[in-house]
Amino acid sequence: MSRILIVEDEEAIAELEKDYLELNDFNVVIENRGDKGLETALAENFDLIILDLMLPEVDGFEICKKIREEKDVPILMVSAKKDDIDKIRGLGLGADDYLTKPFSPSELVARVKAHMSRYNRLVGSHIKENDIVEIRGIRIDKTARRVFIDGVEKTFTTKEFDLLTFLAENPNHVFTKEEIFREIWDMDSIGDIATVTVHIKKIREKIETDTSKPQYIETIWGVGYRFKL
Ligand code: CA
Repeated sequence: MSRILIVEDEEAIAELEKDYLELNDFNVVIENRGDKGLETALAENFDLIILDLMLPEVDGFEICKKIREEKDVPILMVSAKKDDIDKIRGLGLGADDYLTKPFSPSELVARVKAHMSRYNRLVGSHIKENDIVEIRGIRIDKTARRVFIDGVEKTFTTKEFDLLTFLAENPNHVFTKEEIFREIWDMDSIGDIATVTVHIKKIREKIETDTSKPQYIETIWGVGYRFKL
């Protein structure tokens, strides 16, 4: 659930905003004083901050500036005076949006939602997703080099992992032992195609419920192996 901090000294307004946001599944924290608001904004993590301009102790200008020095969290500034809004824009304090009081609670909710989805898109685009190969009960995380069978992690040696991944990435394709050996082991490495058989056996012991009736890696007699789709 997304968390929102409201810094607002008029309690009736703060409560009204809170009610509407909670109806829209946001988790809301209220601070009525500027100094407290700044303290909470810096100490905790919020997905968005609704910041009133005129506040006791520390005003919204100062709070916005201080938060921006440390955090990227979206800030929605509100003020009763249109002139003040123009002034904040001019100062370039880094607020993301501005609302003039009085505003309707539904407008506030709409603005909050718009900012959050925009922010999440920006943050999300920086997170690189892991490269995953998933076939029925097998989930191979290529980035983390981890394998899960029906949700349970199993450990594989480097070659076992490479071999399993190679076959799973090319399902329904029959490979000869020679082709597999060439793909996974370089030609100078010690070993021969019998190594492939040994590795397939070890992989099956980890991924198959019954190794005599393999569900994943099939033996194609006289040819090689195929990963069943
Ligand atoms: Ca105020």
